[in-house]
This record gives sequence, structure tokens and C-alpha cells, in this order.
Amino acid sequence: MRSLPNNPFIPAYRIILSNTCHLVFRCPYCDSRHLHGCGDGKLEQWRVSHCIHEKSELRCRNIRLLCVGEVASERMLPRFGLADLIEFNRVFGALKK
Ligand SMILES: [Zn+2]
Repeated sequence: MRSLPNNPFIPAYRIILSNTCHLVFRCPYCDSRHLHGCGDGKLEQWRVSHCIHEKSELRCRNIRLLCVGEVASERMLPRFGLADLIEFNRVFGALKK
């Protein structure tokens, strides 16, 4: 059973690595960091998930990265759990309607 809506929002953080802007988040399914390009710099960026964890709901799905801040180092990346991600999508999805 899926817990997340189609095209779920994922809170992500801007980080500069080797003079290049990326959006990064710590994945609640595999606990890895998933790194994507910043694109055109808009707060919402559509991407295809990099998660390959066999039980991940994000696996092979379109996601919408939502830039919620910036970190200077990957060590500063906050963790969010699956329950947080589901609630984030419920609240933010309702706000966007
Ligand atoms: Zn993952």
C-alpha cells in the first residue's frame, strides 16, 4: 500500500559542492543522501528518484523536490522519517490546492 501521493514533495536542501549547486536530502527509506541538480533555481524541481531500495516508495517515481533551505555540509542534513514525509505531503498538498 502506498502512503505517499503521486509525485510526492520531498523537502531538500541546497548545497554547493565543487562550485556546483545541488539539491540534497537524506532519504527516509535507505538513509542515503540523494543528490540532484538545482535546475533553474526555482523552489520546486521535478526529478526522478535515485532511490533503489527495494522497499522504497520513491523507487523509480517522479518526485518534486522542494528547496526548504541550505546546508554548508552534508553532515548538517536533517533526518526526517517516513511519517514526517507523509504528513508533509498531506499538509503541503492541501495548501497547494
Ligand atoms: Zn533512498
